[in-house]
Amino acid sequence: MKYQNSLEFAQQQDAEDNLSHFRKKFHIPTDDSGNELIYLCGNSLGLQPKNTSEYIQKELQDWAKLGVEGHTEGEHPWLPYHEFLANSMAKIVGAKPSEVVMMNTLTTNLHLMMVSFYQPTDKKYKIVIEADAFPSDKYAMESQLKFHGYDEKEGLILWKPREGEELCRFEDLETILKEQGDEIALLMIGSTNYYSGQSYPLKKITDLGHKHNCKVGFDLAHGAGNIQPNLHETGADFAVWCSYKYLNSGPGSLGGCFVHERHANNKNLTRFAGWWGHNKETRFNMRKEFDALPGAEGWQLSNPPILSMAAIRASLDVFEAAGFENLRKKSVTLTGFLEFLLDEMNNESISVITPRNPEERGCQLSIQVKDADKSLHTKLTEVGVISDWREPDVIRIAPAPLYNSFTDVYGFVERLKEVLK
Ligand SMILES: *Cc1c(COP(=O)(O)O)cnc(C)c1O
Repeated sequence: MKYQNSLEFAQQQDAEDNLSHFRKKFHIPTDDSGNELIYLCGNSLGLQPKNTSEYIQKELQDWAKLGVEGHTEGEHPWLPYHEFLANSMAKIVGAKPSEVVMMNTLTTNLHLMMVSFYQPTDKKYKIVIEADAFPSDKYAMESQLKFHGYDEKEGLILWKPREGEELCRFEDLETILKEQGDEIALLMIGSTNYYSGQSYPLKKITDLGHKHNCKVGFDLAHGAGNIQPNLHETGADFAVWCSYKYLNSGPGSLGGCFVHERHANNKNLTRFAGWWGHNKETRFNMRKEFDALPGAEGWQLSNPPILSMAAIRASLDVFEAAGFENLRKKSVTLTGFLEFLLDEMNNESISVITPRNPEERGCQLSIQVKDADKSLHTKLTEVGVISDWREPDVIRIAPAPLYNSFTDVYGFVERLKEVLK
C-alpha cells in the first residue's frame, strides 16, 4: 500500500474499505456537544456494540418470564450458554472449539491454569516471563512461586530487552533456556506485550520451551481479537485472555481460557474443581465424585454469569460477520497508515518503539515522546483524542479495525502535531 499524507487520502481509504460499515454497529463516545471523539483505546476497553443491549435484554426477559426454567427453556438456555460462544471464540484464537472456554476473569484463569501446568520440583521450578509483563501477571507468578515455597526473586526469570533496546529478542530467550532450562518449569509469555506492542513468535517459543521440557502458556490479553495467535498450531499448553479489550464485551466481562487438546482427557492433571467442570450427565446428582468434562470445559468452576456471556455473544457475532482474517488485513493497513503519518512528522522527539514488521505487532503502536509527561495525554484528551498513557513517556495508540477509520488515524496525527507545538 502506497500511503499519502492527506485527509483526502484517508477519506478515500474509508470509502474503499469494505469493513467501514461496521463502525455504525458501535456506540462511538462523544464530547459534551455530541461530536464523536477519536477513540484509539480499544486495547484498554473496547467499544460497545449496539447489539449488546438487545442480547442482554433477551436474557433479562427470559429470566422475568421463565424464572428457573430459563436454564433449559429459553431460546439460548443458560445451562449450555457457554457452548454458544465456543465456535466463534475458537476461530478468533485459532483453536478447536473443545479447547476453548469462557469463564472467570484473566488473572483467575491464570492461577487455575498454573494449578494444572505449573508443577514445580526442587530441581525444576523457575518461571520465565517477559520483562515489562503486565503487573497482574507478574503478581500471579510471584505468588505462585511463594505458594510453592520458592523465593520469588530467584524463581522468576525476566526475558529482557538488551541495554538501550526496547524489544525482546528471541535469541536471548534461547540463551536463558540453554543456560537454565534444567531449572525452568514454565514459560508464561504475553502474546503481544501491553507496553511495547511487540508480538512474540508463539510457535517458536512453544517449541523452545517444550524442547527443554517446560510447560508453555500465553497471556493473550492484548492478542485476542487483535492478532491471530493460532493457539492450536503453536502447541502451547494453555492460554488465557480477557474479553473487554479488543473483544468488546464490556468492562470486567468474562475471560477466556485455552487448554490444548492433548490435555483434554488427562484426568490426572491436578486441577481446582467445581461443579461446572463436572460431567454434564451427572452434574445435578450431587453425590457423585468429581468427573471432569473433557477439554477446556472441564476447568470451569461455577455456574457462570449469563448477562456477561450475552455481551460476549453479541460481540462475537459482530466478529463473525466481519471475519477475523478480513479484520486483520485491514488492521495491518490501518496501523501502517498510522506509522507512515508518524514518520512523516519527522519530529525527532517522537519514536515508535513497537516493531516495524507487521508480523511482529498487532494494531497498537507505542509512541515514546522525549521529555514528555502525562500533561501530553491530558492535552490530547482536551482536543478529543482518547488514548492511553504509560509512564514514563509512552502514548499507546490502538486503531481497532472494527470501528476505527483511516480518518480517525489522520485526525489523531493532526492533533498530536498541534499539542506538540
Ligand atoms: C488487561 C490485562 C490483564 C487484566 O487482568 P484481569 O484479571 O482481567 O483484570 C492481565 N494481564 C494482561 C497482560 C493484561 O493486558
